[in-house]
Amino acid sequence: MKVLVINCGSSSLKYQLIDMSNENVLAKGLVERIGIEGSILTQKANGRKYVIEEPMEGHKKAVELVLGALVDENEGVIKDMAEISAVGHRVAHGGEKYAESVLIDEDVMKTVEECAKLAPLHNPPNIIGINACKELMPNTPMVAVFDTAFHQTMPEKAYLYSLPYELYEKHSIRRYGFHGTSHKFVARAAAEMLGENIEKLRIITCHLGNGASLAAVKNGKCIDTSMGFTPLAGLTMGTRCGDIDPAIATFLIKELNMSEAEVDNIMNKKSGVLGISGVSSDFRDIEGAATEGNKRAELALEVFKYKVIQYIGSYTAVMGGVDCIVFTAGLGENAIGTREEIVNGLEFLGAKIDKERNNVRGEARLISADDSNVKVFIIPTNEELMIARDTKEIVEK
Ligand code: AMP
Repeated sequence: MKVLVINCGSSSLKYQLIDMSNENVLAKGLVERIGIEGSILTQKANGRKYVIEEPMEGHKKAVELVLGALVDENEGVIKDMAEISAVGHRVAHGGEKYAESVLIDEDVMKTVEECAKLAPLHNPPNIIGINACKELMPNTPMVAVFDTAFHQTMPEKAYLYSLPYELYEKHSIRRYGFHGTSHKFVARAAAEMLGENIEKLRIITCHLGNGASLAAVKNGKCIDTSMGFTPLAGLTMGTRCGDIDPAIATFLIKELNMSEAEVDNIMNKKSGVLGISGVSSDFRDIEGAATEGNKRAELALEVFKYKVIQYIGSYTAVMGGVDCIVFTAGLGENAIGTREEIVNGLEFLGAKIDKERNNVRGEARLISADDSNVKVFIIPTNEELMIARDTKEIVEK
């Protein structure tokens, strides 16, 4: 079975065609600048790069070109579109309705549309992508894989905010959490690497990328996560502020005469390690600046690590202990020094890093010492593969 995985943004579309018999990626590509001048498709397959530059007025045209690239006589990887057995779509928000991936039908589309108010930047392009694929492949089954689904097992006490209950009942204001597909993928992979049943484990998954979140996974189910109603909550991120006193927003509006849009922009795009360091949102730049003695870059790293350690402590407490900690995503997979310092901050757990094992980037491996009380892993995330696996499972059912 070959599964096409689609991740649609407002002006971009990422895709992968995966052969599920061996989970090999046959082709992967990126379409950029959809609907604006300079539209471009770049596909990598068979060790070759294939570029199509032509106007794309909308996502339907982009999907048409993707399918064309996949069946292209010289650059393609399949002979006929009919070889694509199913399409898995990444969908940002499934609200409270979906705790699992689902086969897309009219009801599902209605829910995804309703959830657009909760994810106004992400669900609308996801819907456009699904509709474009449905038009071009009307007989191919499609599956929606939600970023929020894995976190739907959180108990009420973890997802409810201490606000008037009606705001939850009438306006769906609660913690949802994001990066669910990634947390699910690495939690399962960790159990496999440990050779243990996930239902017997307490795992903390640390998705540390430009956006960052932690999840507490007990007996295979997420019981808490650091992102909230939106992906702004939780850890200090590249440019997002994470947890702050909510009254700061009204203070900025009242005392500094900022507009709602300005506050939103500051908290989403100008905060995090960029805001503290004034250097960059990229940890490579910040680590570099800190090494050269830049005090604010040092401080940004300190704040970031402090928050990760705090959350790990808190999730250890609510799970009654922790068996395994997993680092993933851009920073989690690559930032050797930051990873080491986070584990060094977990002495109270008896966690110990093995410096040599930790001296690696982007490779799945154990990095804790043999006498560590907690197993610590790096596991590169693979959301596309998780989407393809879910899609295969649902379509085969
Ligand atoms: P992601 O959002 O998962 O693609 O992660 C991207 C982020 O990972 C970048 O913005 C960097 O902050 C971080 N990153 C990637 N490579 C490295 C590295 N070698 N050292 C430190 N941070 C890195």
